[in-house]
Amino acid sequence: MAFVTYSYSAPVSQSLFDRAAAVTPGGVNSPVRAFRGVGGTPRFMVSGSGPYLTDADGREYVDLVCSWGPMILGHAHPEVTDAVRRAVERGTSFGTPVEDEVALAEEIVHRIDPVEQVRLVSSGTEATMSAIRLARGFTGRSKVVKFAGCYHGHVDALLASAGSGVATLGLPDTPGVTGAQAGDTIVLPYNDLDAVREAFAAYPREIACVITEASPGNMGIVPPLPAADGRPSFNQGLKDLCRADGALFISDEVMTGFRAGPRGWYGIDGVTPDLMTFGKVMGGGFPAAAFGGRKDVMDHLAPAGPVYQAGTLSGNPVATAAGLAQLRLLAADDFAAHAVVDAASRQVRQLATEALNKEGVAHTVQTAGSMFSVFFGDFGHAGVTDYAAARRQESFRFTAFFHSMLAQGVYLPPSGFEAWFVSAAHDERALERIADALPAAARAAA
Ligand code: PLP
Repeated sequence: MAFVTYSYSAPVSQSLFDRAAAVTPGGVNSPVRAFRGVGGTPRFMVSGSGPYLTDADGREYVDLVCSWGPMILGHAHPEVTDAVRRAVERGTSFGTPVEDEVALAEEIVHRIDPVEQVRLVSSGTEATMSAIRLARGFTGRSKVVKFAGCYHGHVDALLASAGSGVATLGLPDTPGVTGAQAGDTIVLPYNDLDAVREAFAAYPREIACVITEASPGNMGIVPPLPAADGRPSFNQGLKDLCRADGALFISDEVMTGFRAGPRGWYGIDGVTPDLMTFGKVMGGGFPAAAFGGRKDVMDHLAPAGPVYQAGTLSGNPVATAAGLAQLRLLAADDFAAHAVVDAASRQVRQLATEALNKEGVAHTVQTAGSMFSVFFGDFGHAGVTDYAAARRQESFRFTAFFHSMLAQGVYLPPSGFEAWFVSAAHDERALERIADALPAAARAAA
């Protein structure tokens, strides 16, 4: 049976965490960092280099979190760092337009066909919040459909049955969101087109938009069902139902954008959304995010149109320089870096499967392009297709597995409701260290 011991210690991290808890709620600035799902001491990191992180106690880890996605080229990539250094030396914020904003917007528009125009913001939360406001402004409708287990940031209207930290903490919703703020949100089971059809039938011409993670990663990886038996794929079905009713289809690619593949999830399933949201990778490790899509819809944004949206640090010159450098490096040599990320992802998945099978640990590894996660438990042939199934995972096994990996110097996301991330810097040495750690972790999970 899986059991957990925290026999290894991290005294410096623990004392920093104690200090933090005195001045910051729960000791962290984003809940899932607190190790609440797995217990133990959150590691305070002091530096990162390529695929490695070093904590305040001087221990090095192979990083399978990559800052929750952004660091797709690894930590402190020399060319991204140079671009940032040059930008900082020119001045860090002007509150005026700068050329790199235009270049970053062009990079996105040229790479992602459905995005004809894009607006830069500072976080994924701002991107989804603004996209929803725009959808409501454009359609003149109020209701929003979202899916259980999808996380779109901490937007009031989207926190119902959200994944990520909300799932890790086991919260159904959150106090502080009023009935009025969430009253227009319709939460449906993921991958269930019939439920979406019924919602459109119940509220004809009242739904402003359907928002979905392009391929969810915030309940663990749960990809949209592909087309089968004459039925469209889940995303295509959403698009068709939206179009038939005059609602907008919003694909949230904050996690998958420029990460699941060179053109994100859009490049994999080809379904054309009306609006899309981006963050993480496009910021190169800085606070930059974006929403964009059809020009006739984007034209409704101020100052061109009446829907207000703004930001003091939107398009910040340092953040845009970092994002631009990262996106250009990713595209170099016909997206060679993505091929390296794909190969590293494939290898970690294979190693994990082998180690867990050897110990007879029931599990399923699910993938979305180069993104993946491991669910502990027996999910049969279908695997995990919605939030209800994701919640049936044997979290105690994940906890044991996580702590064994951590003790052996591999840093996994501290929750079974999160994706695992690799980078183009995950080389043979890093992969060997993961391979060396897996057998004991699999035994701990057994
Ligand atoms: N949308 C998705 C799919 C995400 O995964 C996240 C964050 O994890 C967000 C939105 C929110 O982004 P941010 O944390 O930058 O506000």
